[in-house]
Amino acid sequence: MTTTSRNQVSKNDELFERAQKTTPGGVNSPVRAFRSVGGTPRFITRAEGPYFWDADDKRYIDYIGSWGPAIVGHAHPVVVKAVQEAAARGLSFGAPTEGEILMAEEICRLVPSIEQVRLVSSGTEATMSALRLARGATGRDKIIKFEGCYHGHADSLLVKAGSGLLTFGNPTSAGVPEDFVKHTLVLDYNNVAQLEQAFAEFGDEIACVIVEPVAGNMNLIKASEAFLQAMRALCTKHGSVLIFDEVMCGFRVALGGAQELYGIKPDLTALGKVIGGGLPVAAFGGSAELMSKMAPLGAVYQAGTLSGNPVAVAAGMTTLKIIQQPGFYQQLSATAARLAAGLTKAAKDAGIVFCADAVGGMFGLYFSETPPNNYAEMMAGDRARFNVFFHAMLDEGVYFAPAAFEAGFVSAQHSDAVIDETIAAAARVFKKLA
Ligand code: PLP
Repeated sequence: MTTTSRNQVSKNDELFERAQKTTPGGVNSPVRAFRSVGGTPRFITRAEGPYFWDADDKRYIDYIGSWGPAIVGHAHPVVVKAVQEAAARGLSFGAPTEGEILMAEEICRLVPSIEQVRLVSSGTEATMSALRLARGATGRDKIIKFEGCYHGHADSLLVKAGSGLLTFGNPTSAGVPEDFVKHTLVLDYNNVAQLEQAFAEFGDEIACVIVEPVAGNMNLIKASEAFLQAMRALCTKHGSVLIFDEVMCGFRVALGGAQELYGIKPDLTALGKVIGGGLPVAAFGGSAELMSKMAPLGAVYQAGTLSGNPVAVAAGMTTLKIIQQPGFYQQLSATAARLAAGLTKAAKDAGIVFCADAVGGMFGLYFSETPPNNYAEMMAGDRARFNVFFHAMLDEGVYFAPAAFEAGFVSAQHSDAVIDETIAAAARVFKKLA
C-alpha cells in the first residue's frame, strides 16, 4: 500500500485492489497494469490539454496521450463539442451516414497511397482485415512480419518475436494454434539481406509484408530508407502486397504518415488512434482496385456493428481538421525534438548512459548509448534502470509509458514550458540515478 501526502491509503491502491476482483489483472489492456515497471497503476479521473489527474488527484504531464490518439491534447473543446452534438443526434444507426463519406474523402485526400478506405473500430481490426485482403487478393498464405512490430492481437500476427532467420513463428499467446501462425515468417527489422533471402526462398508464396514503417512498439525505432525501399521493390517484383501499419505513426510522424515522410507508397495502409481522436475509429485502405475485392463487391469478408459510428467519426473528423492547421506538424515535431534533446543533455550532465530520439510527435527513451535499430538492440538496453527512472518521474508528476518497450507521444498542448518542466524533473531524477 502506498499512502498519499496526508497519510491516507491511496485511492489508486484501493481501486486497483477492487478492479482485480472483477477484471483479470485489474485492467482492460495489459500494459496499463504496470507489470513491466511494477507498482500500482494510476486510475485516471480526468484529463485536460497535456495533463491528466489520478484518483488521488495528483496531476501528471501525460506522455502517452491514450497511446497516440490525443494529438490535439486531452478534452480539446472543439472535439468535445463535436462529440456532444453528434451524440445528441443519435449514438449509432447501423446504416450509412454522410459523416463516413466525409471521413473517407479526408483520409483519401491526406494519405498518399489510399484511393478507397473502409472504416473499422480498432487497429487490430484494421490490420487483421488488411491481411485477409492481401491473402484474398493474392491467393497466397504466407506473410512476413518483423520482430518487435506489434500489429494488434489477431491470431496470425501474435507471433513469437525473436525467432531466427527464415524460421516460421511460434505463437506468443496461449490460445493461438500453431497452425494459424505457421504461415507467418518473422524477420529482423532493418535487415535488408534477410528480407532478400526470404523473398529468394519463398517469394512467390508471400501474400504480404506488414511493417510499422516507424516502429513504436519496441520503443521508437526508425526504419532505414534502404529497408523500406527494398521491401517496396521486392513486393512489387514478387506480386506481394506491402502493408504499412500506420495505426500508430499515421497522422503522427507527418500529416500523410510515414509514407509521406519516406516517399514510399504501400499497397495497403492500416490506420487508427489519431483518426478517432480518442474514440474508436480505425481504417484500412489502398488502391480502388485492391479495395474492390472487399465485400459487398468482392469475396473478402469484413463487417462491424459499430463501424463508422457517428459519434466516433465526429471526434475523428474534428481532430483531422485541427491537425491540418498551418504549422501544426512543425510545432509538434519541434516539441518532441525539444524533449528528446533536453532529456539527452540532462542525462549526459549527470553521467547517465541514455539518449532520446523523436520523429514527428513520437519519441523514444533509451538507456543505451545510441538508439536501437532492431528488437535485439532494444532489448539490450538497461531496462532495470528505465523502471527506476519511470517511477521517479511518476513521483515528479510526469507519466511516461509504463514499459521500456513503448514509444512516447506529445500533443499540440505540450507547450515549451511543459517540456522544460519535464526536463527539469528528469535532471533531478538523473542526478539521483548517477
Ligand atoms: N498496430 C499498431 C502499430 C499499434 O500500435 C496498435 C496498438 O497499439 C495496433 C495495431 C492495434 O490497435 P488497437 O489497439 O486499436 O487494436
